[in-house]
Amino acid sequence: MLGGTQMTLKTVAAGGSRARFDGGEGAPAVSHKLDLDEILRALIQEKVLTEESALRARQTYREHLSKASRVELHPLIFIADLKAPNPAAPEKPITLEYLTEWLARRSGLPYLKIDPMKIDVAQVTQVIGHQYALRYRILPIHVAGETVTFATAEPFLTNYLGDLKQILRKEIRRVVANPVDVNRYLTEFYRVTRSVQKAVEAKMGGDKISGILNFEQLLELGKTNVGAEDQHIVQVVDWLLQYAFEQRASDIHLEPRREMSNVRFRIDGVMHQVYQFPTQVMSAVVSRIKILGRMDVAEKRRPQDGRLKTRSPTGREVELRLSTMPTAFGEKCVMRIFDPDIVVKKFDQLGFTKRESDIWQKMVERPNGIVLVTGPTGSGKTTTLYSTLKFLAAPEINVCTIEDPIEMVAPEFNQMQVQAGIDLDFAAGIRTLLRQDPDIIMVGEIRDLETAQMAIQASLTGHLVLSTLHTNDSPSSITRLLDLGVPHYLLQGTLAGIMAQRLVRTLCPHCKQPRPLDEPSWKALTHPFTVEIPAQVMGPKGCLECRKTGYFGRTGIYEMALVTPALREQIKASFDQTAFAHEAIREGMRPLKLSAASHIARGLTTIEECISVVPLVDL
Ligand SMILES: [Zn+2]
Repeated sequence: MLGGTQMTLKTVAAGGSRARFDGGEGAPAVSHKLDLDEILRALIQEKVLTEESALRARQTYREHLSKASRVELHPLIFIADLKAPNPAAPEKPITLEYLTEWLARRSGLPYLKIDPMKIDVAQVTQVIGHQYALRYRILPIHVAGETVTFATAEPFLTNYLGDLKQILRKEIRRVVANPVDVNRYLTEFYRVTRSVQKAVEAKMGGDKISGILNFEQLLELGKTNVGAEDQHIVQVVDWLLQYAFEQRASDIHLEPRREMSNVRFRIDGVMHQVYQFPTQVMSAVVSRIKILGRMDVAEKRRPQDGRLKTRSPTGREVELRLSTMPTAFGEKCVMRIFDPDIVVKKFDQLGFTKRESDIWQKMVERPNGIVLVTGPTGSGKTTTLYSTLKFLAAPEINVCTIEDPIEMVAPEFNQMQVQAGIDLDFAAGIRTLLRQDPDIIMVGEIRDLETAQMAIQASLTGHLVLSTLHTNDSPSSITRLLDLGVPHYLLQGTLAGIMAQRLVRTLCPHCKQPRPLDEPSWKALTHPFTVEIPAQVMGPKGCLECRKTGYFGRTGIYEMALVTPALREQIKASFDQTAFAHEAIREGMRPLKLSAASHIARGLTTIEECISVVPLVDL
């Protein structure tokens, strides 16, 4: 406690002695909000800003004040709006973040870029009320033991510190953060917390719900939730979706637990915990999502699928694929986010090299034949197929698909969904499509003999067939098809090409840095090939852009086997996978591991990242 007092006093004193930028000699430690003029004077004095820029800032500030709206804006926002050149790096304008860091130094407080994913929103919003937080523009961001940390953009506003310490009986730490962020999260955090609380109150009105819910109770809950007009839940769901879009999440996971349920996002392939709801709120959130996805809300015992279309904050249409599953504590729901602009890419955006792009075009620009894309779930096969179909689609070509499920709706294709209930499986789907005069058929997946046979028949009757298989590499997909019972001579006559692929996280372009190569790992990755050791490789560092992970986005690595006459001869009754692989390499196939090695050598990704996704089996 004593330490706390000293800490607080010191903070006040430090603020006080440096507070007045205009440097009134021996001025008392007056608590005050930042004033545009005092900041401009200090910035000119430190040669960060020129007199002319300062004049312009004053001008826009006066214009703003004369407007009727009179929204109170932080002075740093006006200065950042000038986009004045940065004296230290003239090609870069002075940003709000730069000014915030400057203000932090000036006030002697630590600087922080707020990462909402690192904040326990439910916990911090319990520290002080919304009104109090708004009045002093302080955002609680962290509670640990005897310390509470607040973010603020008003470091010299200090008059509340004494009271706050008394009330909380904790040590108070302050950090300086960007005023736009502080404002925004002050609203968002409290709004979502309030919505959750209101929802809890509404739910608690009835019987108290706790522990493991049996199915009867679940069904009852479903009935009471059917309306789900509940405004608070609507707000929580809206916030969740918007938040996921902003964070570039690919999946939203809603996971019921005994008391507190988890919300997790998958970003660049990695899961992040983002929020916790009381389980009864989670149940209402899932119900709301089921309504949006036109699923049966009362049915909670069977897994269901659905889809939902919405708009991202930037106004783009976003499609979400929903899937629910009953678990011990309620329904789990996963929302996969499909941003059409992200799903369909140009070949170079997929990570194809020029050479790979040429090989791939050779495989798919043909009137008939089967082209297979292989890899585990989540390796980007669907994106490759959709992008390829978009590339091939033209008004004079009929592109048809049979999918399970349809992952993205494209106006250029005629898409059909597998429906197990009415015996419309992949094989039946191809049979139907063949009567629809197609040119190109995309089959979501070949997983049984009948589908394989139909695909072959489609190819033999003059169609190009694109499909996927769940195998590790290109050669093993032939083994798989032969194992299913496909006669080798039919494959020999129809298979045009096979591509295996994986996704790896790419290093953040803003902060990646050179690092020494780990030779044993390099050798393990490239074995049994000998690959020249690159002079330099890059490693992750972490910055604001990549949320301190060092990685930003993902790219594909590919292994392409164009079936040449020499390779065709290898597809025989006594198929030898290794011999096929060796022949394929002689014919120009670059194995996944070598493709990965070239990505590393070009500084796009790291050895660790590749080793975790590339099969290291010997060829
Ligand atoms: Zn970065």
